[in-house]
Amino acid sequence: GKVLVSGANGFVATWVVKSFLDAGFAVRGTIRSAAKGKHLEKIFGSYGDKFELVVVPDITATGAFDEAVKGVDAIAHTASPFHFAANDPAELSEPAVKGTVGMLESTRKHGKNVKRIVITSSAVAIMTAKDTALDEYDWNNGAVQAVAEKGAAAGNFDKYCNSKVLAERSAWEFLDKYKNEVGWDVAALNPPLILGPVLHEVSSPSELNTSTKMMFNAFTTEGSKTGGGQWADVKDVSRAHLLAITRDLPEYVPLSAVNKAEGKNVNRFIIGGLGYAWQDMRASAFTPFLCDTHTPTVDAAPASATHYQKGIPGSITSRPRDMDNRRAQEVLGIKFTSIQDTVGETLEDYEAKGWVK
Ligand code: NDP
Repeated sequence: GKVLVSGANGFVATWVVKSFLDAGFAVRGTIRSAAKGKHLEKIFGSYGDKFELVVVPDITATGAFDEAVKGVDAIAHTASPFHFAANDPAELSEPAVKGTVGMLESTRKHGKNVKRIVITSSAVAIMTAKDTALDEYDWNNGAVQAVAEKGAAAGNFDKYCNSKVLAERSAWEFLDKYKNEVGWDVAALNPPLILGPVLHEVSSPSELNTSTKMMFNAFTTEGSKTGGGQWADVKDVSRAHLLAITRDLPEYVPLSAVNKAEGKNVNRFIIGGLGYAWQDMRASAFTPFLCDTHTPTVDAAPASATHYQKGIPGSITSRPRDMDNRRAQEVLGIKFTSIQDTVGETLEDYEAKGWVK
């Protein structure tokens, strides 16, 4: 089969492309300009004609994906802006929503072979104030409300959250409307902060994407990054895209009929989602096995560990709560990587790239 991956040059998408290619799929990636494909052609050259690229200059244009969806069997829609520097919230929400709806609309009209569309949503579409573990029944309505009320004066994090809630919801609403007419369904993946080694084109740490730059700074910049959040491993996230396309999923339930008590859920999946403190991650570079009881498969304390910031050992008073990630384990059959393995592989990557000496 052939899979379309939008925004193929991004941090997450490059790993998604690799997961599909390694599983034997052919992949068509979309990029915004031909120049953004050079690095991909290099790293995926060994897959020969199983890997191809198409340029989609503006994902918000009507019919932007009409040609790209032709002849593919499944789609992973990952393209969406992720940064905390938008003034007008529409800088984020417009490409997020129009890109998503546009992909679904192009598929409805031209994606005759498509069986499933996986949307790279986010845990920020779920995160809401709650005393118990967040799960796939939760929605971050607070960010949407904050942006609706405050506009450009809303917080930068809320602006990003808003774009992801609106984009994911627009996909479910589209499916509610056209379910009986289309031959495909939708799965949404909801990972929190995604960390891990970098395959996409990054020539220096300053070019890292938003999530991996946060980790690089936490490890290399003195005084930065107290607190923490929830995280996901990039290879788990890419494998989740593969599994969300290859596994049987529960029958689609319209948003209006979702009911936790009755076990009726939309097909959204928290990926990873365990709580971390940056201090835990730093500590795991120096003291492997400190954070939990998983057995790491990589050396979490590389030789140059002394070159990383130690932070303030013993400073953690509380850790963010774990999200409930059982649904992805049960339905997608995914096993999550331990924090030590993610940290260890990421630090090894910094060293391989010569970013930490
Ligand atoms: P990157 O910034 O590395 O990649 C983003 C991709 O989306 C790039 O291909 C980029 O293209 C494309 N893109 C961004 N803005 C636009 C736009 N306005 N029009 C068209 N394409 C655009 O980010 P990630 O890999 O981290 O993110 C990929 C997806 O994963 C996003 O949907 C993000 O919301 C989601 N996600 C990421 C998390 C993380 O922690 N990294 C956590 C949860 C979800 P270009 O290079 O041309 O700008």
